[in-house]
Amino acid sequence: MTAVSLGMPPVPPPPLAPRRASRQIMVGSVPVGGGAPVSVQSMTTTLTSDVNATLQQIAELTASGCQIVRVAVPSQDDVEALPAIARKSQIPVIADIHFQPKYVFAAIDAGCAAVRVNPGNIRQFDDKVAEIARAAGDAGVPIRIGVNAGSLDKRLLSKYGRATAEALVESALWECSLFEEHGFRDIKISVKHNDPVVMIRAYRQLAEQCDYPLHLGVTEAGPAFQGTIKSAVAFGALLAEGIGDTIRVSLSAPPVEEIKVGNQILESLGLRERGLEIVSCPSCGRAQVDVYKLAEEVTAGLEGLPVPLRVAVMGCVVNGPGEAREADLGVASGNGKGQIFVKGQVIKTVPEAQIVETLIEEALRLADEMGAELPDELRDLLPGATVTVH
Ligand code: SF4
Repeated sequence: MTAVSLGMPPVPPPPLAPRRASRQIMVGSVPVGGGAPVSVQSMTTTLTSDVNATLQQIAELTASGCQIVRVAVPSQDDVEALPAIARKSQIPVIADIHFQPKYVFAAIDAGCAAVRVNPGNIRQFDDKVAEIARAAGDAGVPIRIGVNAGSLDKRLLSKYGRATAEALVESALWECSLFEEHGFRDIKISVKHNDPVVMIRAYRQLAEQCDYPLHLGVTEAGPAFQGTIKSAVAFGALLAEGIGDTIRVSLSAPPVEEIKVGNQILESLGLRERGLEIVSCPSCGRAQVDVYKLAEEVTAGLEGLPVPLRVAVMGCVVNGPGEAREADLGVASGNGKGQIFVKGQVIKTVPEAQIVETLIEEALRLADEMGAELPDELRDLLPGATVTVH
């Protein structure tokens, strides 16, 4: 394995490409486009009509770093839940509306921060565009035009034969043009496809043909493993070109997992300050400890640590010391012991059984020195802490 520098750079690396110039909209308090940081969003899986369950899930999403949340509004019961949800949610709520134009007006009246409409499912919306544009404009509520390969406008499906990138883009821009006729441009667009290649093509075309902010998504991306890879590949390709203003990772998994993946994608691309980063070696025939177990235990022990800290977990004394020395904190293991490094200096050598607890203690101490607001459960682990009873 080649030794690489693992240290936190003194200044963040420059982005891979300048961000595409897009107009800015406000989704409640969150700016989207116009150079605003790329935001991460998700969608609740509860029945929206179940206000408490939905608010509970929104609270969990908020705690995990979700910045905008979308709720499905398929029925009148869901519409009636919107005012309470919009009022009590700590993050902006977008109402996701497919078939019923009247629900768009209800969502705006309910105080939702934005409304998502799907041009493929809303032919009947086209007659209502003037009214929707007026209501949304008066309330300062943006509209997401969310085109989805699975529900592409039938007219475009017969024109193109299938949901090609061109078809997705034409559908989105056609719907935008209807709103533009009424002077409404408070719009963001998504053109989702389950194939990252088609999706990337579609967003590239869209990025050239309009200046609306873009919501990135690979639709029906699949279970957590496959969906994470598809989303990381597709978002990575686009964001590396400066395309994309807000992202939603779609996984067949709890929505909190979507947020974790979304945040990690942005951190990996340097589009968001890196938080805790565990750098662990892949292990090889030289490993003298169980690196997988060590890395997993350190990761679990430091979950929720709110600081940009790089922790290196290395399996042997060949490359380990050099690499651990470059991280903020690290261990190089061997001969039943672990050499613990802090900011490049060996501070102690501990028996293998104490490596995890020592790394966690030192990480917490560094975080404390950095002035981090530690969650109670981590603060209790600080050396000399008085344990808080929860
Ligand atoms: S065990 Fe040592 S040589 Fe092998 S991957 Fe880990 S650090 Fe590199």
